[in-house]
Amino acid sequence: MINSEQGFQFLAAGGLNLAAVLDCAALPAELRAMMTAVPLERYQRLVLLGHGGRRLWEVLQESEQAASDPVDTYSRNLAQQFARDYLGDPETYWLYPNTPHLVPLQRLGALAGWSHPSPLGLGISPEFGVWFAYRAAFLVAANVPLHHAIPQPSPCDRCADKPCISTCPVGAVQMGAFDVSGCWAYRTQPQSPCADRCHARMACPYFPEHRYSLPQIQYHYGGSLRWAA
Ligand code: SF4
Ligand code: SF4
Repeated sequence: MINSEQGFQFLAAGGLNLAAVLDCAALPAELRAMMTAVPLERYQRLVLLGHGGRRLWEVLQESEQAASDPVDTYSRNLAQQFARDYLGDPETYWLYPNTPHLVPLQRLGALAGWSHPSPLGLGISPEFGVWFAYRAAFLVAANVPLHHAIPQPSPCDRCADKPCISTCPVGAVQMGAFDVSGCWAYRTQPQSPCADRCHARMACPYFPEHRYSLPQIQYHYGGSLRWAA
């Protein structure tokens, strides 16, 4: 039996407080073109899960996860439990995390009404600002009721000063074109102040109540350098 609304509450209690159910057959052509290696035609729905704010990190601290990648392992386990207990245990096909697929998460997030582009190269959420992330995506062979957020304007549209741009020490944060290689080159210098945090992201004034704790920021930024090493 499918009870996705109750399932969303289960997910939110576990820290995955962003959830969307999209119609595979109605995905825009440009998005389908980015996912040609994925058997979209065999599944009815694409489920996208994320976290906003600090709840997921707090739950993880309480649960003392032992895995080397505790956020991904925890998220995938919770998502699998959601599919089994609240979506009628349908056939699933995993897209993210820990698969070889390159999934256009930001495009899917925009389609779900979660985010808009920002100068930081990250999406920005009308509910959580820059303090959210994608945690799981999978296909299900079941007619789960569609679910997405009601689109709202971007916080960037009303942000006159745009401190993210002026705060970045190397000018990597720009309107329309985040300089990935410039940022990376600076972050990987010895004793870089950006090794375990992004000062530009932290300068965003919207939704400070959802800003990650410093250990959470350090986990994600330090992790990206560790995995690239
Ligand atoms: S500081 Fe302003 S322009 Fe930059 S991400 Fe935040 S809201 Fe958008
Ligand atoms: S990590 Fe540092 S260099 Fe990269 S965008 Fe943020 S402030 Fe700029």
